[in-house]
Amino acid sequence: MLKNLKIKNDTLRYCIALCCTFIFVSCGRSLRTHKYVKPVNTETKAIQYQQKKLYSIDGIHVTNKFPAARLNNFEKLNDSTFLATITPENTPINPSPWYAFKLWSNQTKDIYVKLHYPEKYKHRYNPKLSYDGENWNALDSTKIWLDEQKDALLKLHVTQDTLWVAAQEIQDTKRVEAWASALQGNSVSLDTIGKSVLGRPLFFMNITNGSSKKKPTVIIISRQHPPEVTGFLAMKSFVETIIDEGKNNGFLDKYRVLVYPLLNPDGVDLGHYRHNTGGIDMNRDWSVYNQPEIAQITKHMVKETNKQRNDVLLGLDFHSTYQDVYYTPHKIIERKIPEFKDAWLEKIRIALNLETINDSPGKNERPTSSAWFNRQFGATGITYEIGDDTPRDFIKTKGKVSAQAMMNYLLEL
Ligand SMILES: [Zn+2]
Repeated sequence: MLKNLKIKNDTLRYCIALCCTFIFVSCGRSLRTHKYVKPVNTETKAIQYQQKKLYSIDGIHVTNKFPAARLNNFEKLNDSTFLATITPENTPINPSPWYAFKLWSNQTKDIYVKLHYPEKYKHRYNPKLSYDGENWNALDSTKIWLDEQKDALLKLHVTQDTLWVAAQEIQDTKRVEAWASALQGNSVSLDTIGKSVLGRPLFFMNITNGSSKKKPTVIIISRQHPPEVTGFLAMKSFVETIIDEGKNNGFLDKYRVLVYPLLNPDGVDLGHYRHNTGGIDMNRDWSVYNQPEIAQITKHMVKETNKQRNDVLLGLDFHSTYQDVYYTPHKIIERKIPEFKDAWLEKIRIALNLETINDSPGKNERPTSSAWFNRQFGATGITYEIGDDTPRDFIKTKGKVSAQAMMNYLLEL
């Protein structure tokens, strides 16, 4: 009797194990919630919308009526000086005060515009100027004065032509879509997987030669944080290189690449300092998915890679900060391709002829995308940070050589 029961139990256990294996192999891992050592409350908070307005004072005209603009007030201080107030969408918030406005004048002249940030927030991004919204140049540093390391006084030459002044080059939803759309072809498709809270598209690019089935996969994301344009520029060059060279070097025959180039389209088009319309730092929501953008994107990543039976090896999230740095998994973090990180960074270092490369390992304690890639897929998750002022031609080169180094490494696996 006991013996029979034991055989039955063993058989049952065997059947359960077999079923579990079948479910895992056929369906992969479902989207799970994750607990972190340093959790963050990401429930929606109120934000303040800026008033969209044209200000006209003494023949000077200034507007924030365009996507990615941020100008909360504009007033005259004296005959030649104006005060432009730039406030965040809500607080507390990281010190990354984004601004963007257009201005023109009835008469050609030089004026001074003081960028004023409230409370503890201080000037961070040196102004970029443009006459068409596409071609940008930094304002000469001799025309910028910092007021007690906080506000910034700018000397601007204004004419009847519209001058764009922005914290960084404008890369709004429309421009990101135009970029992704132009890359479509045999190996690249572009789709929308859902919508942001305010109805803007969440883009998804699928990159591979032919079928995606069973190919090991790399996931690339960008623009959780609206002002972080330099990281986005590196991502563009990275993805363009994968398409250009990966089509022919065997990489896209063997691998699949999923790209989500704009995770926070509302924040970008509303000219936010950092958050989405839920008033939340999206890169702290990769645990319970309170924010609809993160909920949809993570669900899509899991569904797509399960459907095509892809093994996700690597997740790269492009950002910007004060300097170039890679936030990488600490050696104690178990992951697939554990040798990748050091080998990749060394290849990049050599290709760029750098003495050192800025590697900052972490232990996945906070609910960020890089921790999530590891917890959800067992992948190597890396946050790829570019400095705010890193020269643009270097960003392009760095994006390119990083993609080449990644492809070389993965092709040798
Ligand atoms: Zn960031």
